[in-house]
Amino acid sequence: MGNCFKSTSNDDISLLRGSDHHDSSLEPMPFVEPPPPYRAQPEPQQRMPIYHPSPGVSRPANQLSEEEQIKIAQRLGLINHLPTGKYDGTNKKAKECVICMNEFMFGEQLRYLPCMHTYHKECIDDWLMRSFTCPSCMEPVDAALLTTYQTS
Ligand SMILES: [Zn+2]
Ligand SMILES: [Zn+2]
Repeated sequence: MGNCFKSTSNDDISLLRGSDHHDSSLEPMPFVEPPPPYRAQPEPQQRMPIYHPSPGVSRPANQLSEEEQIKIAQRLGLINHLPTGKYDGTNKKAKECVICMNEFMFGEQLRYLPCMHTYHKECIDDWLMRSFTCPSCMEPVDAALLTTYQTS
């Protein structure tokens, strides 16, 4: 009897191949769109000047009544009749603006009131739109102006 014992020791173990299947959970995050450069905003604020038809009242120009608009136009007209000038240091009395508490600087635009008080043009124009009196002596500016008109 032939010894035909064969050692079949070669283990024919097929190695488990790593499976090729994708793990879908590792997919990159879906692209998130950045917000658009423009955003939905409420109506853009129009650059509307705020007027003060009477003390304590302020509202945009588009909400003024016709009467108030006339009043403001008249007031603006009066303000524009007040003399202006640039500070040149020659007026020794007028040294600072009591509205903003700053000293006048050379070349700044000033506004002269009939009562001889002097202010920055910007400061007093804003003030006069609210109260038509001199912030220093409380003299009504329009009264002085009106007499100036009548006499001229
Ligand atoms: Zn001022
Ligand atoms: Zn004054």
